[in-house]
Amino acid sequence: MFFDTHCHLNSDDFANDEKGYLERAKAVGVDHFLVIGWDDVSSQKAVELAEKYPNVYAAVGFHPCDVLKVPEDRFAVIKRLLSHPKVVALGEIGLDYYWNKTEEEHELQRKYFVRQIELANRFNKPVVIHSRDAMAETLQILKENKPIAGGVMHCYSGPKEMVPDFLALGLYISLGGPVTFTNARVSKEVAKVVPLKSLMIETDAPYLAPTPNRGKKNESSYLPLIAAEIGSLRGLDAEDIGEWTTRNAKALFHVKP
Ligand SMILES: [Zn+2]
Repeated sequence: MFFDTHCHLNSDDFANDEKGYLERAKAVGVDHFLVIGWDDVSSQKAVELAEKYPNVYAAVGFHPCDVLKVPEDRFAVIKRLLSHPKVVALGEIGLDYYWNKTEEEHELQRKYFVRQIELANRFNKPVVIHSRDAMAETLQILKENKPIAGGVMHCYSGPKEMVPDFLALGLYISLGGPVTFTNARVSKEVAKVVPLKSLMIETDAPYLAPTPNRGKKNESSYLPLIAAEIGSLRGLDAEDIGEWTTRNAKALFHVKP
């Protein structure tokens, strides 16, 4: 049993193949899905998928690269969607200094990151956090604006030394396809040290497909490959990792067993 805590089934990459996507996943034991929005339109689509399929849940929010492109009034959509019973988190939100390089962009990203954490706190929802090339700034903002319903560091790419700082804030650490890459030394170290009770797994489909599908379009049916790699690094089975991470995801997102 596996819970894909971060996938973009709401992406155009999967248009008209949602059913097949979910069936292929279920055939290998992946039976829970959190579909993540990155702006108002994709968040709305995530909610539609959650309404249509059992065991599919939605997270709604503005990705740090998308906050820069959207007029202010479209944030109202997120606020409205947060009351939906299958919206279990606010995300993905955070900082991305890889794709956006100017100080002006960074400042806007920080402003909307804080504002979306405040919104999550008002609705008592956990947050799904994206952080790329901005790990120290992300930690700083989270310390100053603590997500009260918790959250998860999605596709964690920081060093193992920073893991305790995020755990201290009550956050989970989620690992994805990169942990399977042969050159992913840091990710593999992280996979060994995150306590099982704080670990989650995800595909981030359609991105970051795990080995041996690296470079292909990713999908939730590849999630057991990620669990198997983490398991082998820790002397456990893929199923053990699946059980722990599913339990953790259900606890954070308040999904009934
Ligand atoms: Zn994502």
